[in-house]
Amino acid sequence: MSFIEVKDIVKKYQVGEVEIIANDQVSFSIEEGEFVVILGPSGAGKSTVLNILGGMDSSDAGNIFIDNRDITKLNERELTTYRREDVGFVFQFYNLVPNLTAKENVELASQIVTNAMDAEEVLALCGLAHRKDNFIAQLSGGEQQRVTIARAVAKRPKVLLCDEPTGALDSKTGKMILKLLMDICKKTNTTVIVITHNSVIAEAADRVITIRDAKVENVRTNQQPKKVE
Ligand code: ADP
Ligand code: ADP
Repeated sequence: MSFIEVKDIVKKYQVGEVEIIANDQVSFSIEEGEFVVILGPSGAGKSTVLNILGGMDSSDAGNIFIDNRDITKLNERELTTYRREDVGFVFQFYNLVPNLTAKENVELASQIVTNAMDAEEVLALCGLAHRKDNFIAQLSGGEQQRVTIARAVAKRPKVLLCDEPTGALDSKTGKMILKLLMDICKKTNTTVIVITHNSVIAEAADRVITIRDAKVENVRTNQQPKKVE
């Protein structure tokens, strides 16, 4: 069994009279330590499957095994622990506490998990050693996203889930953020899944999953992923 096995996930949303099928038997598998990109048009169902993987939403059918545990079988209390301890999240919007420093934001998140990384060490890993004592409001968008990544990585998550992490950034800064996520994946052997439209990063990923019309259209593995400069 692979490290992550998504099996036949079905998710429907009822909007008034209309039923929307957001995921229609979505299946894929991911090996530990892989850098995975999810591609596909807007509305295809990418965020839906990522949210279910992260325990933020439930599926109507299907199973998701992570490290041999079926997270679709967890009760509310177990799911809370799963989200807190096992999953790191990076979104387009940073959700940082503006009147705390970069280091304090990381500490705030890592103090609730056991065995968290040292805040200064993880900030250095994210290229923010010189910014650790700056308040969030003093940081650029790219730097704020680095803090979000540091905050997520500090938990030593089993999987880092990133939903359009560069959506609010200019393309050059966005590319640096994606490169950082890839570096972290390889340096820490963390499994990273990123929803992005960036084709350069897709070329460099270990695995590319394309989702279209609520289904997996294609899965491609790169035996020799390109280096991102
Ligand atoms: P993507 O991430 O690929 O842009 P989403 O997973 O966000 O796609 O959405 C898939 C489909 O499900 C879309 O039609 C979207 O409008 C719908 N959808 C997503 N979340 C909800 C929700 N909370 N309520 C109703 N419909 C939703
Ligand atoms: P879409 O892919 O449809 O544009 P988003 O990427 O904006 O959707 O959001 C995907 C999901 O992640 C949504 O269900 C939203 O509730 C959640 N989300 C987005 N930003 C954050 C955040 N900063 N913190 C927590 N959850 C978030």
